[in-house]
Amino acid sequence: MRLEWGAEEEAFRAELIEFLAAHAPPEARRRRDFIGSDDGSLPGWARAWQATLFDHGWMVPGYPPELGGRNATPVQTLVYLEELARQGIPRSLHFGGYAIVGPSLLEFGSEAQRAMAPAAIRGDTVWCVGMSEPDAGSDLASLSTRAELDGDSFVVNGQKVWTSYAMVAEKCFCYVRTNPDVPKHKGISVVIIDLDSPGVEVRPLRHVTGAAEFAEVFFTDVVVPRGNLVGQLDDGWRITMGSLAHERGGIWLEGVSGCQRTVDDLVALAHRRRLDRDLAVRRRLAAAYAEAQGLRALGYKGFAGFAQGSSAPEHSYMKLATSELRQDLYELGLDLQGPFGVVTDPERAEEGGRWPHAFLVSLAATIGGGTSEIQRNVIATRVLGLPRG
Ligand SMILES: Cc1cc2nc3c(=O)[nH]c(=O)nc-3n(C[C@H](O)[C@H](O)[C@H](O)COP(=O)(O)OP(=O)(O)OC[C@H]3O[C@@H](n4cnc5c(N)ncnc54)[C@H](O)[C@@H]3O)c2cc1C
Repeated sequence: MRLEWGAEEEAFRAELIEFLAAHAPPEARRRRDFIGSDDGSLPGWARAWQATLFDHGWMVPGYPPELGGRNATPVQTLVYLEELARQGIPRSLHFGGYAIVGPSLLEFGSEAQRAMAPAAIRGDTVWCVGMSEPDAGSDLASLSTRAELDGDSFVVNGQKVWTSYAMVAEKCFCYVRTNPDVPKHKGISVVIIDLDSPGVEVRPLRHVTGAAEFAEVFFTDVVVPRGNLVGQLDDGWRITMGSLAHERGGIWLEGVSGCQRTVDDLVALAHRRRLDRDLAVRRRLAAAYAEAQGLRALGYKGFAGFAQGSSAPEHSYMKLATSELRQDLYELGLDLQGPFGVVTDPERAEEGGRWPHAFLVSLAATIGGGTSEIQRNVIATRVLGLPRG
């Protein structure tokens, strides 16, 4: 069997390649597996790059031009995601705005809120997403940040945690409890909170890498206009499902392609360290290659179902498998360096300290966006049809 795209898709890819060659900044090509900056700030090149993608209709190709796209088909969108992943070029360093907030505003927002979507997708407005709390992570419905209606305003009190980019964001897409007297899923709403409002305090938190990319956000008697409610009162749970519908069918490609690139880099590393004849190393490399290829095939199978309008249960496995594979790959990268694997000094370490840094970053991928344990629960109940434990 030979898998290949048709002439139309290849023409689409060629146009993208030409655009990337002409416009992608060198910094975008260097980022491979490093996320963010040490203080969580968004570099100027990244903001300019996101705006350039939007202005040329390459930010979210499935959207119309006024939303940074070109009305691309699902298959073209897959080709787009594949090519960006192949070249290791990110679109944005703040995922929440274009991937969560923009689509949610378009689907659930008032007319005034829908008008905020282009700036969220272009990255002109930086958003953070306030879901997790100290006692509500995997069990998001237990959130307790309270928003009480007082005339034409809500008064918000409570705390969020692990809020990515809260230090640089202007607005928070915030999940709050508006009704404590009904079953927990039914008393949640979403409000837009301007982070410069009186009573908001943002305290940066450090990742295991030392970079401060997320924060605790405290709300004390924060007054939020009623018009900032997104969707209906107490109906916020529906919005938790909001994500980039145009890309849902292909978003797995980023994870798989990242793994494939890392396997290639491991082969090069084994060669440099003269370990490419070591049988144990060869076995681990071959197993990693086979797993990445298998995941890609599974992703395409899921995409075929998605493109024909059915759900793609394979995709609930992809996040789990790619995030765990990535950890194994970086661990292998450390093993190949022996005792030098833990050297982080960019001057002395292999590839500027990339491997230990990426290993630590990879730990986050099995937590954020739903932990591995939660993914396994989803697979058990929704894919395998097992009863809840
Ligand atoms: C890099 C990064 C960025 C993030 N950015 C954001 C953000 O921008 N906004 C935001 O709101 N949140 C963000 N988060 C938070 C993330 O969504 C939560 O960490 C995640 O949902 C898990 O919640 P928790 O940390 O409270 O862990 P908990 O839910 O307390 O889980 C603790 C442990 O118990 C396990 N566990 C929990 N419930 C079950 C169960 N039912 N069955 C089996 N095991 C279970 C978990 O798997 C985990 O191992 C981010 C996290 C990371 C790592």
